[in-house]
Amino acid sequence: MIDNHTHLDLINDSIDNIINRAKDKGVTEFIVPGITGFPQKLEELQKHKEIKICWGIYPKYAVLDNIFEKEFDNLKNSSIKIAAIGECGLDKRFSNLIKQIELFKKQINISIDYNLPLIIHLVGHWQKAYQILKDSKPLPSFILHSWNGSVEMAKEFVKIGGTISLSASALKNPNKLSELLKSIPQDKIIFETDSPDQKPDFIKGLENEPANLPLIIDKIKSYI
Ligand SMILES: [Zn+2]
Repeated sequence: MIDNHTHLDLINDSIDNIINRAKDKGVTEFIVPGITGFPQKLEELQKHKEIKICWGIYPKYAVLDNIFEKEFDNLKNSSIKIAAIGECGLDKRFSNLIKQIELFKKQINISIDYNLPLIIHLVGHWQKAYQILKDSKPLPSFILHSWNGSVEMAKEFVKIGGTISLSASALKNPNKLSELLKSIPQDKIIFETDSPDQKPDFIKGLENEPANLPLIIDKIKSYI
């Protein structure tokens, strides 16, 4: 089982402990996105071949001057093999949409140049993001992480090649989840914890972690 989106570097425990607990539950692969370029705890992450490291800049940081140039230099000068570009995208909670769009487009271009999938974070601005992706040629393969948009919009993204990744946040709206699961082909739906965020109520502990993935998937699938 793959946890398609986990910030292992932001969970309050050692990487070894976190992935050992996950493996006990059958979670064997971990996609770790970056939010300010590479993830933190890089050395620890690199020790495990089950951990796939990504590079990306989260929309919140679009306001920081030169963050893209600085972090892209780091990427170019690094020998670390990355699995995807992200997480990047648009988020209505943060200001300066123009800068967010600029940053998003730059990362789409890297994913095309490096021939790597794109991990997209969207809160609002779904139509805008859809248009940007549709206009990019060629269109990279992309994952919409922790999807919280409409069923209609999800269908549109899937039509142009997107994959929908569901976390426990999808459980907040059971009717929509059920409709989504009926409308999207099964091979276009994947799962993630988005840990340490998105801890579902039915799980104990302070933080979410990859070991919770099987329970989250079971709960989501109960709405099929
Ligand atoms: Zn994330």
